[in-house]
Amino acid sequence: MATPISPAPQGFLPTLTRDDLARWPKAELHCHLDGSLRLETMLDLAREQGKLSALPSDSIDGLQDILRQVDDSETLEAYLRWFSYSLPLMQSREALRRIAYELAEDNAKENVRYLEVRYGPILHTDEGLTMAEVNEAVLDGLKAAEKDFGIRTGVIVCGLRDRRESASLAQAELAAQYRDQGVVGFDLAGGERGNPAELHGAAFYFARKHLLNITIHAGEAYGPESIRQALFKCGAHRIGHGTSLWQDEELLRYVIDRQIPLEICPTSNVQTHVVKGFKEHPLRKYLAEGVAVTINTDNRLFSRTSVTEELWRVHTECDVPANLVRDAVILGFRHSFLPWEEKQDFVRMVRSAIPQYA
Ligand SMILES: [Zn+2]
Repeated sequence: MATPISPAPQGFLPTLTRDDLARWPKAELHCHLDGSLRLETMLDLAREQGKLSALPSDSIDGLQDILRQVDDSETLEAYLRWFSYSLPLMQSREALRRIAYELAEDNAKENVRYLEVRYGPILHTDEGLTMAEVNEAVLDGLKAAEKDFGIRTGVIVCGLRDRRESASLAQAELAAQYRDQGVVGFDLAGGERGNPAELHGAAFYFARKHLLNITIHAGEAYGPESIRQALFKCGAHRIGHGTSLWQDEELLRYVIDRQIPLEICPTSNVQTHVVKGFKEHPLRKYLAEGVAVTINTDNRLFSRTSVTEELWRVHTECDVPANLVRDAVILGFRHSFLPWEEKQDFVRMVRSAIPQYA
């Protein structure tokens, strides 16, 4: 029997401020490029590309109002609809380069020192770009931002659960082709229910054989069986979300013993109704029991958040004490898809930069 998630301790009082968290050096491991644009940039691009009528509003205020409705919606639709607004604007080299550059700039501004950005190149080929052209535009934008803002970045290429295995394989091949030029991993994203990861086995075998790091969205909209598939059939090194892991006590034990990291995205999990609310999120239980939890945004725009904001909510709404918030930040660097030596340097830096808490 799985141990249910216990309520937060009574009388928990936050000891960190939002400014503390903004100052801390941070890593971001789970961030979708097509969900993390600036609103201003969406409007700019829509105007430039003559696609303004495809957006639900032609003003920042109007778009912000519609974004706020995501929080009140009881279905996933309001959240997912935003991809149908962003993706049509991300079909040119210039747009992709700009969005990647600005995303890294926004992360650097809140002292994210290492950023892994993920996206499915095939979703950006509707107007004639090849997947290689798409990927080069994204890498180009990130490299320019690395130079300008001193942030370190990496790209995770996503295969898509609801497409054929041949499409995932083509994206795994693309990821392998750019492995030494900024691509650090391969992922599987998209609706979990009815689209099991094991149907994409050839893509994962190819990716592993070509020495790519593997992360897979699993245990988010589906139970722990999906995490088992990701780990045992596809060879995942990290799990995206893993919110349902606690329901399978033996698997939880396995994940703790092997320190298999979870990329938790708290606000997104609340908005997509994977958890009832911040107080019910299993991340507090995971951290207390020794799971390698990392805290991430998923979609900066759609979730109206940042890495700092996610950590703030983890501390003040999920009632995670300061020492465990610090642990999660360190784990973000430790479980990045960077070369080992570079990871060690980051971990040493962050350990000395963030004070210890009782
Ligand atoms: Zn995601």
